[in-house]
Amino acid sequence: MLNLEIARIFYEMADILELLNTPWKPRAYRKAAKALETLEISVEEIYEKRGLRGLEEIPGIGERLAKKIEQYIKTRRITEYESLKKKIPAGLAELMEIESIGPKKAVVLWKKLGITNLEQLKSALDRHEISKLRGFGPKSEENILKGLELYRQRHARFLLSEVLPISKTIIAYLKTKVPEIEQISEAGSVRRRKETVGDLDILVTVKSPDAAEKVMSVFTTMPYVQRVLAKGPTKSIVVLKNDLQADVRVVEQNCFGAALQYFTGSKEHNIELRKIAVEKGYKLSEYGLFERKTEKFVAGKTEKEIYKKLGFDYIPPELRENSGELEAAKAHTLPNLVQVTDIKGDLHVHTNWSDGSNTIEEMVAAAQSMGYQYVCISDHSRTRAIAHGLSIDRLLEQIKEIKKVQKKFKNIKIFAGSEVDILADGSLDFPDEILKKLDIVIASVHTGWKMPKQKMTARIIRALENPYVDILGHPTGRVLQRREPYEVDLEQIFKVAAEKGKILEIDAFPDRLDLKDTDVRRAIESGVMISIDSDAHATNQLSVMDYGVATARRGWAEPKNIVNCYSLKDLPKFFKKIKLD
Ligand SMILES: [Zn+2]
Ligand SMILES: [Zn+2]
Repeated sequence: MLNLEIARIFYEMADILELLNTPWKPRAYRKAAKALETLEISVEEIYEKRGLRGLEEIPGIGERLAKKIEQYIKTRRITEYESLKKKIPAGLAELMEIESIGPKKAVVLWKKLGITNLEQLKSALDRHEISKLRGFGPKSEENILKGLELYRQRHARFLLSEVLPISKTIIAYLKTKVPEIEQISEAGSVRRRKETVGDLDILVTVKSPDAAEKVMSVFTTMPYVQRVLAKGPTKSIVVLKNDLQADVRVVEQNCFGAALQYFTGSKEHNIELRKIAVEKGYKLSEYGLFERKTEKFVAGKTEKEIYKKLGFDYIPPELRENSGELEAAKAHTLPNLVQVTDIKGDLHVHTNWSDGSNTIEEMVAAAQSMGYQYVCISDHSRTRAIAHGLSIDRLLEQIKEIKKVQKKFKNIKIFAGSEVDILADGSLDFPDEILKKLDIVIASVHTGWKMPKQKMTARIIRALENPYVDILGHPTGRVLQRREPYEVDLEQIFKVAAEKGKILEIDAFPDRLDLKDTDVRRAIESGVMISIDSDAHATNQLSVMDYGVATARRGWAEPKNIVNCYSLKDLPKFFKKIKLD
């Protein structure tokens, strides 16, 4: 949890430095913050075992940043952060986080209109003062208003990746501190693995009644609690240090399933299920399933027995959105959902040849330790200078290097690939003679998002028509809570992809998850194959695959729909350029 605290400070330092017009440093801080967020071991643990040296080995953390982390571990403060904060009005950094403002405009708004917080910004917008400023105009006023709306949305909700690790930590913590806990589970949208979640609900059963109180006191005094909103005999609510609200409830053992079902939702799913229960002469609540007339308890210990009693197969939480899962569960036609253990390889990873942090060898070793049969190195192409995209010469050199590295690895196949930019006209950033030398080509849009829908659709279709393209990377370009997807006619893309045998990606990065769940389902229904890719830029990011799998499950995907659920020997079916010897 310390990792997240420090990451938050680094992000804020990056913002302030940017406002102060400091070059380079903000990028370094953001990179470090991102690395900390995805790090699976606590920095405290690393520091205890290996000291400063250990911290410096975290990708993106150099000597200076390692020292700051050390200071935070020892004193819970970072001196430079505190002195930086004094240089600008509080609230200004927050202003800058609004998509269409950024550091330069934030400074203008502050100096010209005295705006230093969101409330002042909102009232200046209402009075149309901003459009009168030099370099702003009505269009940018409109964009700022939209940006403010997006900002408010993202602060009301958290990315799944910001909550799931905390949930796991809290559950483990409660289990160790209260051995009387019998069953414990997260519920709500976290359990349904929604891409963003509003809060965290935890349900518990205990072996003896007096242990409930112990759960309450341990929960409300955990180190990560910011403040306690309520503490009762069987239910408590706290706000965690990252502003996330977390609830814990102790329920009776014989209604744990009913409570879990009830608190997992979704609301729409539950309304429908309760309606069906009533039609069958029952009453369903968080306390169990009861006969309506006699009030006799019928089921409630497990979710499975409740669903069964009502005539349904067990429905995995990810599907409970009232979007056809009840009908399918009744007809015994629920999908055999893909699982993390079905994943046989990762087809989209970056190395330090472009904007990644690790060498080819390190990425391959990490992929091997995930138990994968294959991994595809897919660095950026030449136009993407900001990400150190590879020139043709460098790419050819990299292909040779991959062959060399392959000799050191007997148990994992390394594919030479590239994440090639789709240029504005739909042509690709490398010529065909080069593309055909690669095992796998991922084509992605990284620029020119603001294109009209028709033009963007034509652009992507042209790229898909290139015979050497295998996968369309992050097909809608969205970044959760930061950038809306670009306008594109997905139905048409699905149609072309299905016809040409092109694969669409679920980019598993937690702020992308692109394709998103509902689009995955439509793609599969259109006969399109999917690839779940980590898009890892460091070894410790390969594990984001879990979020991609969660998205695939929410999109009703089965292993047979996912190319990287197939064994190495089956890949030539999907990738024409792959030749196995
Ligand atoms: Zn990309
Ligand atoms: Zn990428």
